[in-house]
Amino acid sequence: EGAFLSVRDLHVSFRTEDGVVRAVDGLSFDLERGRTLGIVGESGSGKSVTNLTILGLHNPMFTSVEGEILLDGKELTTARESELEKLRGNKVAMIFQDPLTALSPYYTVGRQIAEPYMKHMRASKKAAWERAVDMLGKVGIPNPKQRAKDYPHQFSGGMRQRAMIAMALVCDPDLLIADEPTTALDVTVQAQILDLLKNLQQEFGSAIVFITHDLGVIADMADDIMVMYAGRAVERGSVDEVLRAPQHPYTWGLLNSMPRLDSDPNIPLAPIPGTPPSLLRPPSGCRFHPRCTFQERVGGTRCVTEVPLLGPDRDSACHLTADQKRTIFVEEIKPR
Ligand code: SF4
Ligand code: MG
Repeated sequence: EGAFLSVRDLHVSFRTEDGVVRAVDGLSFDLERGRTLGIVGESGSGKSVTNLTILGLHNPMFTSVEGEILLDGKELTTARESELEKLRGNKVAMIFQDPLTALSPYYTVGRQIAEPYMKHMRASKKAAWERAVDMLGKVGIPNPKQRAKDYPHQFSGGMRQRAMIAMALVCDPDLLIADEPTTALDVTVQAQILDLLKNLQQEFGSAIVFITHDLGVIADMADDIMVMYAGRAVERGSVDEVLRAPQHPYTWGLLNSMPRLDSDPNIPLAPIPGTPPSLLRPPSGCRFHPRCTFQERVGGTRCVTEVPLLGPDRDSACHLTADQKRTIFVEEIKPR
């Protein structure tokens, strides 16, 4: 009973000067140990907010959180800050796009990796330093014994990213949240870091939530995928299912707006028209309707008036029939 991480009907909204932003609107998903869930969507889709909420890093003054986040059976939405802080050092870790948000310029890289290990694993200073050196080696830093004594500014961007991953993994977290961890890196380093995460996951058996806007990275990294749009999940399933036969017009748009190995280079990429909506006043019905070219196939005004719901397991939140979804993808989308 109960997945390792279980998010149930999560609603997150925050107050701004302009009104209430409904950043996450009824999100549910499960994640087991040793598995990777890829969350994909444009900025403003709610993917980052979801994960900050899991970590308890939202500002409680301005944020309202409803629903359940169960980690190993423990409810996080009502946990005290002291409990969350313990969790963040120990069970749950996060890697960000920018390593400088995690690394302090004032301390050596080795010390910053050793510190959480001392604190949460009650290790001696010496044991923690050895562990830090060991972790730096594991993430592929050459000559780790020497480099552990360096400061972050003495590392290249790719090495800082690796150091941050070493820091995130030093206490063997059960859950790792990676938010666009490789976006700022060049392709070669990116591939190395992704390989590294896969190897480390095999070694430590962590569950990983991998947030990105890049379907190619998801294909490479994730077991399951959840596509988010404007605060809601619009499609989910195994990576194979969703990438082989996507069912939602927004997922089709994402696929058509990225280069694929098998696509004809003479056919230009087709970006999704328009921009994601403001979550101050989200569109009625299907939130994708202002950008969707398939509404007339549904007929009437259903797309504008009725919220399409996402079922459990493999599904997509769209009023098109299963038959229409299949046919449109095979006959109109895929040939690109
Ligand atoms: Fe498009 Fe309607 Fe499906 Fe939304 S429900 S994705 S508007 S066809
Ligand atoms: Mg983000």
